[in-house]
Amino acid sequence: MRSVLPNHTRPIWAEISASRLRDNFHALQAAAGPQIEVLAVIKADAYGHGATECAPVLAGAGAQWLGVTSAEEGLAVRASLAILPQGMSPRVLVMCGLWPGEEAGILDRGLTPVVWEPYHLDLLEAEAHRRNLPAQSVAVHAEIDTGMARQGVTPGDLLERLLARFTTDSPLKLEGVMTHLASTEVGDDPQNQVQMIAFASALQQVAAAGLKPEYVHAGNTSSTDSGYIPQDLPALAAGLGARAMTRAGLALYGYALPLESATDRVIQSEGFLKPHLASSLKPVMTWKTRIVSLREVQCGDSIGYNATFVAPGTMRLALLPVGYADGFRRALSASNAEAGGLVLLHGRRAPIVGRVSMDLTIVDVTAIPECSIADEVILLGESNGERIGADEHARLAGTSAYEVLCGISNRVPRVVVS
Ligand SMILES: *Cc1c(COP(=O)(O)O)cnc(C)c1O
Repeated sequence: MRSVLPNHTRPIWAEISASRLRDNFHALQAAAGPQIEVLAVIKADAYGHGATECAPVLAGAGAQWLGVTSAEEGLAVRASLAILPQGMSPRVLVMCGLWPGEEAGILDRGLTPVVWEPYHLDLLEAEAHRRNLPAQSVAVHAEIDTGMARQGVTPGDLLERLLARFTTDSPLKLEGVMTHLASTEVGDDPQNQVQMIAFASALQQVAAAGLKPEYVHAGNTSSTDSGYIPQDLPALAAGLGARAMTRAGLALYGYALPLESATDRVIQSEGFLKPHLASSLKPVMTWKTRIVSLREVQCGDSIGYNATFVAPGTMRLALLPVGYADGFRRALSASNAEAGGLVLLHGRRAPIVGRVSMDLTIVDVTAIPECSIADEVILLGESNGERIGADEHARLAGTSAYEVLCGISNRVPRVVVS
């Protein structure tokens, strides 16, 4: 268990189910198929689930590759893997490049950086020369920008110049070539095809430069769910004698975006791009707290900041020690005019009333008379067949499950359970 505070006593925590994390990884690997390896993305502190908690579990489940945000996250993940038996340490891909000062740690701990800027190569080469490392001993993966204009080198001249750096006597080795797709949840979005075509031509440039990467990777949760990109990948990789890999994060934690269609085709009923994966996923995090106070209010009493909720009759209210400083979104607030979020108490849904404040939230337990102080409350998770998911919070907050999950703050300790 970890927390920013040394002696965590506040009754709020997030349980991370190791068995669900393993099951989701296996479901992803099954959906990707035997020809595609799945890189488990644990960036952004494993989407709020705790990267150092999740890394050893995923390695134990057979993950050969983990993806982290930065060198500093990679170093923490490496340290967390020290508990594993010898020979069971997965590779760690640093997905957002590197910054001056990070090259030593990358080489010390055998992290594998994604590179696309010439300065990335300058930093690694200089550090490798300083250490007299042999030719082709530092593996890197080059990212190609095939149409997202975020990270990556553009095919053509810029790629040509980047590839020219991988000479036989360079300490660097082009181990992987990757791209990232912008619109995979929209299965028939023409952008997917455009990006894959650009990727194929970039791979031809790689081959023409005489380079033989071992891995070619693209795609994410949604492309694995739709089955669209994984179908294309093995052939692309095979053209270079490489192995196909895809990178997935969200599904590991038990969520997937609903698949959409650009042409308004109803995806499932037409049998076009069926979700392969979504139905077998289980949320890994159960976010919990306890009731710390109970009170009764009368008809006409106002509740919370700015009195956005006025009791329509006698109500029993429970106070929960969770607020937006924990990442419990303020958009879950409720007024008389507009319902807000819910929590689970004794297996039933209890509505939030009034504004979610920084540290505290009030819920209506009038319909759950057996509630008492210290009762467990589920903020995200399941109980008695009822479920509140990060996707439900996301809908109310006008955002995505990704942002809800990685927005749960460090004030909430993560506890790994079986
Ligand atoms: C975050 C990320 C992924 C994983 O995306 P999910 O939708 O969470 O599966 C894959 N590749 C890159 C480059 C990413 O940044």
